[in-house]
Amino acid sequence: MESPLTVLPRELTTEVLGRVASSSIADLYNAKLCCKELFGAAEEEYVHKQITLDKIPIIQWSEDRKISDFLNKCRQSRNPEALFRKGVVDYFGGKDVSDAIRCLQEASKSGHSEASYTMAVIWLFEGGESSKQKGLKMLSGMQKSRIQKRRIKNCRERLESIVVNILVDNASILKQQPTCCVMGHQRKKRRFYWGEEIDEDDNIACDACTCDEELTAIRKAIRWTTTAYAAEN
Ligand SMILES: [Zn+2]
Repeated sequence: MESPLTVLPRELTTEVLGRVASSSIADLYNAKLCCKELFGAAEEEYVHKQITLDKIPIIQWSEDRKISDFLNKCRQSRNPEALFRKGVVDYFGGKDVSDAIRCLQEASKSGHSEASYTMAVIWLFEGGESSKQKGLKMLSGMQKSRIQKRRIKNCRERLESIVVNILVDNASILKQQPTCCVMGHQRKKRRFYWGEEIDEDDNIACDACTCDEELTAIRKAIRWTTTAYAAEN
C-alpha cells in the first residue's frame, strides 16, 4: 500500500522531520523506520542541520565508524553543534587550527552562543592588540544584562567540561596567559552565601577584568601535561 506521506509535499515532510530531529535523535530514528519516504527525507541536509547531538558524547574514546560518519554528515550539513564540537576539540588540541576557527565562526554566526563565547575567548588567548579588542568587544557585548551573564556562565561551564577532557596542545593557550586589564584592578573579596557567590558582577572592576576572569577559568580547566607545564612555568 502506498504510504499516505507520499501525498505530502516533500518540503513539509522534511520540515516536520527537522523539528523531530531537533528534540530527539531516537524519535527521528523511529520515524525513519516507518516508510521509505520518511527514510529518504530523514537523510536530507536540512534534517541533519537540525539534529540534536545531546545523546552523543563529544569525546569518542574509541573509534566508532558509524558515529564519526554521522557527525561528518552533520558538519557537512552545517549543524551548528557539530561545527562547535569540531572547532573546540581541534582548536584546543592544536589540530588544523584555522579550520577549527572557521567551524566556530560559522556556528557562532548561526546563533550558537557557546561557539560565540569560545570565539571571544580564543581572540583573547591569541594575543595581539586587535585580537584582544575583538575578544573584549564580543565578550562585553554578550553580557549586558543579568540573563546574558547567566548565559555566559553556562557557556563557560560547557567549554570547561570539554577542555578538561582534551589533551590541550595549542601554543596560544599554553603560553603565558595574556592580561586584558591594563588598569591594574584587583579582584574584590568574593562573598558567598550557602556556597553560592553573591553579587558576582560587583566583584569585577571593568570589562577587561571580566575577560581576565574568563581566561583564568578556562586555563584552570586544562589538564597540564608535564612538558606543557614545564614550558609555561
Ligand atoms: Zn580592570
